[in-house]
Amino acid sequence: MEKIKLGIIICDHFRTCSGGKCFKALHNKEGAFEAYKGQDVELAAFATCGGCPGTNIEYANDEMTKNGITHIHFATCFSIGYPPCSHKDALEKFFINKKMNVTFGTHPIPQKYYILHTNLRTWNNEFFHKNLKSTLANEKIRLKYD
Ligand code: SF4
Repeated sequence: MEKIKLGIIICDHFRTCSGGKCFKALHNKEGAFEAYKGQDVELAAFATCGGCPGTNIEYANDEMTKNGITHIHFATCFSIGYPPCSHKDALEKFFINKKMNVTFGTHPIPQKYYILHTNLRTWNNEFFHKNLKSTLANEKIRLKYD
């Protein structure tokens, strides 16, 4: 079985994040990583977007491509920060254009952010309806990531 190499990009507003929830979810194959159940995956890069509007994206793509990464995950912080990333469509387009497999999401959405954004209705648009499914999980799993 061929190993899939992943790169995670986090929102620069959370640049000091040590990635605990992302690593836990990858280990447990939860959230967006559930899609890799039964597959051999390696996290081969972890970078920030560089700050609005994504100043590190071109460099990160070049590095990741050289290292054989084929799958990019925009971390869940893109969606659960307040406000969620407003450059997400352009960033997604950039990587799709580079022939990367792009997923918005890493770890399951923590329950506290699920409640916050549901109440604020920040996810009531087409982009989030399409992209949040894999990280919504269920309440029991969301509570594990609070
Ligand atoms: S809001 Fe978007 S572009 Fe700005 S720092 Fe966060 S992820 Fe990067």
